[in-house]
Amino acid sequence: MEILTFGNEILTRKAKEVIDFTVIPKLVLHMFETLDKGGIGLAAPQVGVSLRLFITDVVGDKKRVFINPKITSTSAMTCSMEEGCLSFPGIYFPVERPEGVMIEYYDEENKKQGMWASGMLARVVQHEYDHLDGILFIKYYNWGDKHE
Ligand code: ZN
Repeated sequence: MEILTFGNEILTRKAKEVIDFTVIPKLVLHMFETLDKGGIGLAAPQVGVSLRLFITDVVGDKKRVFINPKITSTSAMTCSMEEGCLSFPGIYFPVERPEGVMIEYYDEENKKQGMWASGMLARVVQHEYDHLDGILFIKYYNWGDKHE
């Protein structure tokens, strides 16, 4: 699948809830094929499908699919980590986010799941979750306060 890059209107749209789960297996398969070319997370809007679904493939963790996810709580502690985005090739900068998040979601079999994500997974989950609301990571770019 082709990855949409910055400037495409779909990336800034609020994605719709998944209702028809019959489209999921094929979509997820194609998204993982795309992610396998390089990357640790991919949201459906990035491949032009405006649905609330994202996948993760973090080193040391299994491949995960999050459908209709909701972040229900976040840790008070935040940390700064370098982030990149497949929709912004070549752009990396540190972003401050909560260290951990509680996320509720549906899996590929439409079963409700919940987990506490921490470390790199929490980072990717928050980045991809933002994509579902049309929020792009450049929003967090720190321009500094060097303006005189
Ligand atoms: Zn991204």
